[in-house]
Amino acid sequence: MVDALRRRGIADEAVLAAMAAVPRHFFLDNAFEEHAYEDKPFPIGCEQTISQPFTVAYQTVLLDIKNGDRVLEIGTGSGYQAAILAALGAKIFTVERQEQLYFNTKKLLDELGFKTVKCFFRDGSKGLAEKAPFDKVIVTAGAPVVPEPLKEQLVVGGILVIPVGESVQKMLKIKRLSVSEFQEERLDDFRFVPFLKGVSRK
Ligand code: SAH
Repeated sequence: MVDALRRRGIADEAVLAAMAAVPRHFFLDNAFEEHAYEDKPFPIGCEQTISQPFTVAYQTVLLDIKNGDRVLEIGTGSGYQAAILAALGAKIFTVERQEQLYFNTKKLLDELGFKTVKCFFRDGSKGLAEKAPFDKVIVTAGAPVVPEPLKEQLVVGGILVIPVGESVQKMLKIKRLSVSEFQEERLDDFRFVPFLKGVSRK
């Protein structure tokens, strides 16, 4: 899997090492276990998917994680992205709107010993005010627009990585330059599951 990521242009050695260290098959349904190291997304229940390894690596590189960074993730899903960030030394606050995924993944991350990942059940469009500010914010669902609270909850110098768009999303890297100034870079196209409003208890 790591060789395939290198071939697709991922060159950040720390990110590649984290992806080599975290077993992806722990985060997948048993039915897909033998395919866990292919560069593909898979269903994780509740009509959601674990992101493709390339996408996880791509977003992680953009975040430029430093040891001890406080990171907000919107879209816990399987917990795989959170685990990669934790392996890089970050402290993660991850938010999920699907109750079942929140419970399952919180339990899994506890069992696997990821003590620096804290899970929250809520709609992530308002961020996580009580734990703000964050050094980095990552959104792992395709958002129609950039939710303002996610920008406001960044430290000055902080980075928000978010895929924005309807059927296809443009990856945006937004850096907070000062209290009122933000710099936006528009990068490659991706397809994520949609960023939805409210919570779901189905
Ligand atoms: N980071 C995940 C990707 C999961 S897919 C992983 O590594 O597996 C995206 C997730 O975002 C889904 O679980 C979906 O339920 C969740 N999501 C979508 N909109 C959301 C919102 N407004 N708040 C919180 N989570 C949301």
